[in-house]
Parts: sequence; structure tokens; C-alpha cells
Amino acid sequence: MIRLDLGRGGRPLRIGYGRIFHEACADSPLLTTRENFERMHHLDGEALARATTLRGTELKSFFPHAELTGFAQAARLAGGVDAVPLVSSLAIPSGPLTRECFDWLVDGMVQRVERAGRLDGLYLALHGSMEVLGLDEAPEAVILRRVREAVGPDATLAASFDLHGNLSAPIVDALDVLVAYRSNPHWDLAPTGFRAGNRLIRALRGQIQPVHAWRKLPVVLGGGINIDFLPPLRSVFRFMKRLERDPRVLSTSFFTVHPFTSAADLGWAVHVSTDGDPALAERLADQLAERAWATRRVPLPKLYEVDEALEAVATSPWRRLGPVTLVDADDIVGAGAPGGNTRFIEALMRDGRGLRALVPVHDPQAFEQVSSEPVGATVELALRGTPGYAQPEVTLRGTIGAKSDSDLGRRVRLDIGPLRVAICAEPPLPIHPKYWRELGVNPREADLMVQKNFFHYRLFHATTSFRHLPVVSRGATSLRSVAVAEWDIPRYPSSDPPDWREGDRALRAAGRTRRQAHAPSPPSGSERGSPSRSHPAG
Ligand SMILES: [Zn+2]
Repeated sequence: MIRLDLGRGGRPLRIGYGRIFHEACADSPLLTTRENFERMHHLDGEALARATTLRGTELKSFFPHAELTGFAQAARLAGGVDAVPLVSSLAIPSGPLTRECFDWLVDGMVQRVERAGRLDGLYLALHGSMEVLGLDEAPEAVILRRVREAVGPDATLAASFDLHGNLSAPIVDALDVLVAYRSNPHWDLAPTGFRAGNRLIRALRGQIQPVHAWRKLPVVLGGGINIDFLPPLRSVFRFMKRLERDPRVLSTSFFTVHPFTSAADLGWAVHVSTDGDPALAERLADQLAERAWATRRVPLPKLYEVDEALEAVATSPWRRLGPVTLVDADDIVGAGAPGGNTRFIEALMRDGRGLRALVPVHDPQAFEQVSSEPVGATVELALRGTPGYAQPEVTLRGTIGAKSDSDLGRRVRLDIGPLRVAICAEPPLPIHPKYWRELGVNPREADLMVQKNFFHYRLFHATTSFRHLPVVSRGATSLRSVAVAEWDIPRYPSSDPPDWREGDRALRAAGRTRRQAHAPSPPSGSERGSPSRSHPAG
């Protein structure tokens, strides 16, 4: 007699698991290479198995337990599952991957699948907004196709995604199980992996028969700043929970995309999976799409120009309590920008009000020049920001105030009057106050500090900074550029389609091509509105 908790033929199920994860910013001149993955997160075999236990650490310095630990728990709780570690690779958001890097990642995954022997199923943690130089289809579609070829036609495939992923037919159709995060900022990585594993195992045991429906929405921005627990998006996630109380509904997912890739079919998406009821999946996908569509019309917060922001700081009563935070919205390192914006420094050098300012800037060439100078030395240098980022050159004469080389990066503090510039060898993420404390500065005593992140820093600066102004500066993560981008298939907010259904049909049929070649040297100024966006793949 076949035991129900075992796999086909009464033996344990064998399920491979791994990750290829990256979120790309198409306009960053910093290409992503194999070294970025190897330095950040690259584990396979036994090391991956250890990292994905409850005692292990899956993603060092981010999450001790992420998707693959969640999956391993689902396998353990189900019993009778042999979870086979393949390979897991992740790099922090940055520019597109080189082709060489992508081939290395995919070939490595395929080789491990082939070496694993016969697998009943496979689970991959993916992002959904990867981008590869010179590749005209969604990288995740290529990954799934290559893995399917390696594992054979009978295996069941599951994948999880960041809710900032961009769905397309080759991705959806390749999968038996598809789930996405439901939180932004993301905290639910492990629960997402658990849900994927649970659905996959039940499908392999014949306990459920997942079928799905999905819709694409002609929206690239909206929903406020896309925080899941705040209006208006909160209503969509609550609706999804309500739908899932129906035992026939296996999963619901809502994708709000990362708007800074070059995918021609960029747009929000919803996905509904039911247990063998395709008509129900179709009906609920329509309802979910309708809910999501209704949340799009939330205006962007007021965006300040740099000079306007300095004026606001100078006149703000808040700066007596702590620094005003200027969020560099167009150079968000956490969204893949390089962090080499020089415009704040340029404006502060012109500003005569003596503002005590803390500004990080990525400039590896300037870093090389000053890092060998002793603390106390006076230096003169031309600051140009990230190479290829087309920033204004700023000539500085200042004193080396401090140096630091920690897990927050290599940086040198240059003091120019009351201005403190952190010249960084790597893209800066000054989320934690210790970023500046390691450079001998108490951030509380500043009038302003520049952030390269939208949200996370607020957790660490909750008692330091009480006023937050988003500032635009013409970098790689410009929401304004996205808002005015021209599309061959109209999308909100640059167009205002009366209904989502026409866009849904067109976007699902379009599939992925690239809307523009990667520009290694993005032009500055209004031309960044990028009319080429209306001409996919050149
Ligand atoms: Zn995300």
C-alpha cells in the first residue's frame, strides 16, 4: 500500500531548491558581475543546506531566515521529503548583469540540477526584475526554461518572487506554483518560501491540482509609496487574505513592479491559483485586478529640487531637534542606483548659510586619490561621482577628517567648512547612524543628512531625524522619468487609460522585449524622460 505522505511509488519525494536573485536598475552604469554575487551571497550543496536550517543564517546581514529556510521548513513538516540543496546566489540591487555573469549563474544552476539525479520537483526563489545586458527576454523566463530542460517534463516547478517583479507569460506558464511576497518593506521572505514549498509538496502528492489565472495592469507607478500596511494598498492585501479563506483558493499574488528596468511590458500584475477550478481563478483574477486598479491614483509626495530642499532645511524648526533627512529619491542605492550624485555637494558649496550637512557620494576615483592621505591633510580634488553617471564635476578643497573600512564600505570623510562628505569606494547605504559615527560624526548634531533609501533608515533614525523631504536630482531611480515615460501601450501615470482590460490584453501578449538599450552614460536633464521608451528593443 502506498503511504499518502510519501511521493510517487511510496518513496520520499526529492525536491531541489535554490535561488537566483537580483533587482536591476537599467540606468545604473555599474554593471553587475559574478564578483558581486560571490561577495554578497553564493552558497551551494551542504553549505546551503546548513544555512537553511533554523539554526543557520541564510542571508548574512539581511535575514537569518529567508525563502529557502521557509521552503526547508515546509519540507520538514510535510515529512517524507528529501530536500536537495542546489545553489543560491544573490547580489544587492545594481545595474544590469553582464551576459557572462548571467550565463555563470544559469549554467551553475543547470549543472547542479543535472547532478542531483532524478527530482520530482524544484523550487526557486527569484526576484522578477532581473536585467541582463543584451538579453531581449525576461531573464527569469530563461532561467525557468533552462531548468525545465534539465529537470525533465514530468517534474513540478514552483517559484517565489519579490512583489516588485514583472510578470510575463513565459514566467507564469513555466510554473505550477507561483507566489510572491506580501509585504513592503519586505519581511515575509521565509513565509513566502514556506507557502511555495507547501503548495509544491501538496501538488506532488496529488492533494491539490493548481491551475491559475493572471492579469496585467497598465500601471507602472501608484499606490502611494507602495507600503503594504498603509492605504491604499492595504485594502488589496486584505482582499487577497479574504479570497484565500476559500479552501478552493491556493494562493493570490499582487505585483507592483520595480519601475526602473527596461522591460517593455512593465506593469502591475495579479495572479490567482485555485485547486482545479480555472473558471474560479479567472473570475477572482478579474476581481483582484479591479481592486488593484482602483488604488493607482495616489499622487506622489511633493518632490523638492535640491536648492529648494536646502531652503526648507534652513527655515525648518525641526532641525533644532535633529537633522532633516533629504531622501535622494533619484539616486536610491537600495533600488539599484549607484549613489554617485554630486548635486547636493555642488549646491551646498554654493550655499552660504553654513548648514552642517552629511552627504555620502560614490566616487571610486576620488576615493583612490584621498585614501592614501593621512587624517588632517588638506587635499584638493575634482569630485565626479560614479564613473559614467554624468554628474556635475565639483572641485573641492578640504581636510581629511576620518577614514573607515567596515562592512558599511570603504570611505573617507572630507571636511569643507561645516560640510562632511563621505567619499565612498562602494555605493553608500547610510541607513544606520553608525555609518556616520564610524567616521567620527554624531548625526544628531547635523542640520541635514542625505539618505539613499526610502524607508528602512527611518527605523534606525527614529529618534534622530523627524523631518523627511524627498529630493529629485536626475539620477538612475527617477520617479519623474517613469511618470512621464512614453509607452506604445499606454500606462498610468503618463497616460490615464479608462480601463485596465485593454492594457491587460496588450501587455500579456507583448511579452518581454527591452524598451531601450542600457545607457552606460545617462544624459542629465529633461531628456531623461526617454522617448526611446516607446520603441521597445530599439
Ligand atoms: Zn522588492
